[in-house]
Amino acid sequence: MKNTSQPNQSKNKFYVTTPIYYINDVPHIGHAYSTIAADTLARYYRSKLGKDNVLFVTGTDENSQKSVDAAKKVGKSVQDYTDDTAQKWQSIFDSLNITYNRFIRTTDKDHTKTVQDILQKVYDNGDIYKGVYEGLYCVGHEAFMKEDDLVDGLCPDHKKAPEHIKEENWFFRLSKYQDRLKHYILDNPDFIRPQSRRNEVLSFIDKGLEDFSISRETQDWGIRLPFDDSQVAYVWFDALLNYVTAAGYGTEAFSKWWPADLHIVGKDIIKFHCIYWPAMLWSAGLELPHQVFAHGFFTNDGEKISKSLGNAIDPVGLVQKYGNDVLRYYLLREITFGSDGDFSLQRFGEVYNSDLANNLGNLVSRLSTMLIKYNNAEYNEVKVKPRYEYEDDITKLKFHTCLAELFSWLDSLNGAIEENKPWELFKTDAAKTVEVLSAITSELLLIAKYLEPFLPESSKKIQAVFDNGKVVSSEVLFPKFD
Ligand SMILES: [Zn+2]
Repeated sequence: MKNTSQPNQSKNKFYVTTPIYYINDVPHIGHAYSTIAADTLARYYRSKLGKDNVLFVTGTDENSQKSVDAAKKVGKSVQDYTDDTAQKWQSIFDSLNITYNRFIRTTDKDHTKTVQDILQKVYDNGDIYKGVYEGLYCVGHEAFMKEDDLVDGLCPDHKKAPEHIKEENWFFRLSKYQDRLKHYILDNPDFIRPQSRRNEVLSFIDKGLEDFSISRETQDWGIRLPFDDSQVAYVWFDALLNYVTAAGYGTEAFSKWWPADLHIVGKDIIKFHCIYWPAMLWSAGLELPHQVFAHGFFTNDGEKISKSLGNAIDPVGLVQKYGNDVLRYYLLREITFGSDGDFSLQRFGEVYNSDLANNLGNLVSRLSTMLIKYNNAEYNEVKVKPRYEYEDDITKLKFHTCLAELFSWLDSLNGAIEENKPWELFKTDAAKTVEVLSAITSELLLIAKYLEPFLPESSKKIQAVFDNGKVVSSEVLFPKFD
């Protein structure tokens, strides 16, 4: 049994995914959160394993009834609608400085081929059979529901009455995998993290797994079943397979990338990723990903975020005003990854001023100014003994610990300036002044390197200010806001 909470990197590669997002959604802070977390890890592993050994995939989920409904609303064909909207999603991630290797769309040709191949395999395995589904379906969830799930006849999340449908569908034998899945989760304590989600999945399994319908008869848009072209694949069966497509299923690359090292998901979709997905992979004869990590949700100033309250947080607006690194810092530092958190604009401003402007930004500007003043803009880069090694925490997705430690280290560097008072020391001992400033600058540069996955733009700026023993520019990293 493995005893580590890190995703596995046995192949010397790292493959990380975000969920693919419903194309009709407006990108909000939750989407940005999953994606920024994955981006942080992708950047870290690129520096560790080399850029050719990291695969980072995000994208859009397009073969859903939601796409059809949304296209109708704006009077476009579904294809035109998804093309335009996928473009928007991609450019938003570009503006958030997300370094994905592939932006996958479930309408991509190679994905259609993957889904049909795998459906055929699963069918040939005897895991797909025909049955009648009669019951409730929530389009918001793209999921079948039970009476028990409803509150006052409505889906509690979507506040809408689910559709009553009766269809002849194809079903997947999920029940067959119940025991195997339970044992797998028990034997692999790090397969599902955090622990609370793992417990949730285990108790779900204990209630008994039922076969689920993997096709829709009444929907036109989607991927046709290879063994029955009157039906399209159920959107989740299709969407989950994006992880396999993007790893190069059917090509040589697949053996390098699969299994995925880490799926980052929101806590609302663990049932799909921790129950349906492993069973689907086993049925198709594929290995399971090393880890599924579910992060929590946000409130906005303590209030639940909902369409009806209109209090969704727009990541793009924040980034335009404050910069990418500020949003990244807030999300990764303020909220323990895996727990729920609160987003408060007031707190955002406080963190900006105290941690970024007054601590990091101030340190950079004080050091560069003093070096210019006391030593002709020069310093000697000295070897630094790290006060904190971040590998263990970042690979366990403890982003907030990494940033807390690195910023407390920065704090102590500001403290060292206060203590040594270079502006006084300089009057009596110029050599000692240079020594002190050089030592602090060298530590700052090491921290800047460690900060790259978290704050890529600031890290780059710091390394541009101090270059090879010389202060070559002065830049205000974080200007003061009112
Ligand atoms: Zn719903």
